[in-house]
Amino acid sequence: VPQENIRNFSIIAHIDHGKSTLSDRLLQLTNTKLSEQRDQYMDKLQVERERGITVKAQSASLFYQQDGKDYLLNLIDTPGHVDFSYEVSRSLAACEGVILLIDASQGIEAQTLANHALATKNGLKIIPCMNKIDLPHADPDRVAAQVHAALGYAKEEILQVSGKTGVGVEELLRAVIERIPPPTGSLQNGLRALVFDTWYETFKGVVSLIRVMEGQIAHGEKFLMKSTDKTYEVHELGIMHPEATPVTRLQAGQVGYILCNMKSPAEARVGDTVCSDASVEALKGFQPPVPMVFAGIYPIDASDFDALNKAISKLLLNDTSVSIFKESSNALGLGFRCGFLGLLHMDVFRQRLEQEHNADIIITNPTVPFRVRLKKNPKEFVTISNPSDFPDQSQVIEFEEPVVKASLLMPTEHLGGVMELCTSRRARDLDMVYLDSGQVLLKCILPLGEIVIDFYDKIKGISAGYASLEYEPAGFQQAQISKVTFHLNGKPVDALTTIVHHTNAEQVGRRVTEKLKEVLDRQQFEVAVQAMVGGRVIARETIKAVRKNVLSRSGKTVGGGDVTRKKKLLEKQKEGKKKMKRIGDVELSQDAFLTVIDNS
Ligand code: GDP
Ligand code: MG
Repeated sequence: VPQENIRNFSIIAHIDHGKSTLSDRLLQLTNTKLSEQRDQYMDKLQVERERGITVKAQSASLFYQQDGKDYLLNLIDTPGHVDFSYEVSRSLAACEGVILLIDASQGIEAQTLANHALATKNGLKIIPCMNKIDLPHADPDRVAAQVHAALGYAKEEILQVSGKTGVGVEELLRAVIERIPPPTGSLQNGLRALVFDTWYETFKGVVSLIRVMEGQIAHGEKFLMKSTDKTYEVHELGIMHPEATPVTRLQAGQVGYILCNMKSPAEARVGDTVCSDASVEALKGFQPPVPMVFAGIYPIDASDFDALNKAISKLLLNDTSVSIFKESSNALGLGFRCGFLGLLHMDVFRQRLEQEHNADIIITNPTVPFRVRLKKNPKEFVTISNPSDFPDQSQVIEFEEPVVKASLLMPTEHLGGVMELCTSRRARDLDMVYLDSGQVLLKCILPLGEIVIDFYDKIKGISAGYASLEYEPAGFQQAQISKVTFHLNGKPVDALTTIVHHTNAEQVGRRVTEKLKEVLDRQQFEVAVQAMVGGRVIARETIKAVRKNVLSRSGKTVGGGDVTRKKKLLEKQKEGKKKMKRIGDVELSQDAFLTVIDNS
C-alpha cells in the first residue's frame, strides 16, 4: 500500500461512550478476521471487560477498499483513563487524526474535553462523531449544539453513528479516508520510529508497537534505542491484523510490531525512539512514568508471600509503570511497597492480582509522594513515598506536596456542591467556564493527596453521577506535612502509619482510632488507642478491661469492593479470628487488623 493510502488514527472518547464497541465494528466491517471470536476483541483482559476500561492499548491494521483503491487503516488504541495519560499522548503521537466519539445520549464529558485538547495540541485532524444514535433517548440535536458551543464544530461536520447497529460506520470510514491526511516521512532518511506500546509475551518476549516516522526497518537489521543507547537486532516484525502477522519490512508512515533480543520489559519504554544510528535525533517527549500513588501490598496469610512475590513479578512483565520495593511490617509481615500512576491504576493492579493470580491481599491506605528539603542538604529535594522514610521534623526546612490541574464538568445545578467539596479539599485558582445551556467546566489546582482517597466517589455522589473529573500532574507546592502514627498501649502499629497534610491529621487520627476501638476485643486490662503526630496525642480511645470477650463482631462491614472479594475477605477473616497477633502486651485477632487496614 503506497504511503498516500495509509491512514493512522485513534478513537478517543470518555469512558463508556462506545470506543471498544466501535473498534470491534470497524474490525468486522473491514473483514479483519479474529482467530478467536470474542465480544470486544479490543478489550482483552478480564479486568478490562468488567470495568469497561482499556488498560493496555490494542491496536490493529485494517485493510479497506473504497472507490477501487486499497487503503491501510491503522487503528491505534489508547488506554482509557487519566492515570495513563502519558501513554495516551504517545499513542496520539503515532497518528495523523482521531475520531472524537461522543455518546449521543450523554453529551460532552470531562474526558471528551481533555482528549480534544490533547489531540489539538498534537496537531491532529479531529473527526467529531456522535455514537449510540440508536438509543431511544439519544438527543443528537442537543449534543450537536453542545459540541458546537464547546468545541466549535459546525453541525454538518459531526458524524452520527451507532457502533452497536453499524449505522453510519461506513460513512465514518469514508471520513477517515477523506479528512485525515496520509502520513509523510521519507523512506530515504535514516530510521526514526516511535515506540507507543509495549508488552511481554511468554514465548515471544518483549513486543513493541512502533510507528515508523522516517526511513524503514527490516527483518535482521540492527537498530538503536535512543534513551538507553543499546543496540538490538530485529528477530521478527509485522503488523497487528489484529493478531501479529509477520512482514519483511516496515516503512515510513506504517505501524507495526517488532521483536528483538531484549532481555527485560524495562528495556522497551513507551515514548522512546527506535533509530538506525546515533546521528538520528530523538522524537520529542520521552519521559519515564512517575508513580503518584503509593501503598503497601501484603498477603493476607503471611505464608503466601512467595506466591505473591511470583504473581507480582509476572504482572510487572506487562506493566513496567508500577514500581515495587520489598518492605516489612510488624503487623502484616513481609510485603511490598508499590508505586502506581494513579488510584485506578492501583485498583486494576489489585484486581489483576486477585483474578489472574488468585492472590489474597491487603492494600494499605494510599499515600502520595512528598518532597522534603533537609538542613543537611538544603539545596536538594528528596522524595518520600513511604511513611517509614519520614524525616525528623527538626531536620526539615520545608515540605512540598504534589498538585494536579483538575477539570470538572457538570450540569450547572451541581456547581455549588462540587465547589464546596473542592474548597474543603484545599482547591485553589478556581476558574469556571459556562459551556452552553446547562454545563459548566470548573478548573482548579488540587493537592493530589486530597483526591486519592474518596474524591471521585464524593463528586459522583454530589452530582448524582453527572459530574466527570479529569486531571493532570501540575508539579509540587509548599505544604505542612505530618506523619500520623497509631499506638496500642504505647506500642506503634506500623502498617497504620500515614503521611498527610497537617490540616487532615486530626480527622484521620480520629477515624482510625474509632475504627480500632470498634474492632478490638477487650483485654484483661485497659487498652489505650492513640493517634500521634510528633510526640503529641491527637486522638485517643480507651477500651475498658473485661474478663471475657464480650464484644460481638457481627454486623461489621468490610467496606467497598466487589462481592466475591468481600466474601473471600470475610472467609479469610473467619480463619484469622483464630490467629492472634501481638502488639506490645495487646493481643488482637488478625481480622480486627484487616478491617482497619483494608482500604478497598
Ligand atoms: P468504551 O468504554 O468507550 O470502550 O465503551 P464500550 O464500547 O465498552 O461501550 C460502553 C457501553 O455502551 C456498552 O454497554 C455498550 O454495549 C454500549 N454501546 C456502545 N456503543 C453503542 C451504540 O452504538 N448503541 C448502544 N445502544 N449502545 C452502545
Ligand atoms: Mg473500552
